[in-house]
Amino acid sequence: MDCIFCKIINKEIPSKIIYEDDHVILFEDINPQAPFHALALPKVHIPTILELKPEHSVYLYKVVETIAKVMKEKGYSEDGFRVVLNTNRAAGQTVFHIHFHVLAGRLLMWPPG
Ligand code: 5GP
Ligand code: ZN
Repeated sequence: MDCIFCKIINKEIPSKIIYEDDHVILFEDINPQAPFHALALPKVHIPTILELKPEHSVYLYKVVETIAKVMKEKGYSEDGFRVVLNTNRAAGQTVFHIHFHVLAGRLLMWPPG
């Protein structure tokens, strides 16, 4: 499949992996927008949340649960962090495999640009 994140999952493309298990992977964004910028995704290929089915719910839960665990371990939970899920063109989605951006380590402005 011609999906850059599936290639990262399959180790066909290198990445700096922060956490991985059978269903979830977190790796560093190649173009970080904050001192900590990871991408957290289910290993199952789902292009956007518009294609979500009820059977995907467990995988999405695992991704969010993992984000919380990693951010606690890295010491970002008390200060805070941002989780972003871009969907389609106007939001700037460029990779069509569901992924959460996880940003931390600086004051994050609101509203985002
Ligand atoms: P989107 O714009 O789809 O929400 O986010 C895609 C993200 O993937 C971008 O922040 C971009 O920097 C990141 N990205 C694109 N290609 C690669 C890659 O090959 N490796 C890594 N680690 N990140 C990538
Ligand atoms: Zn994919």
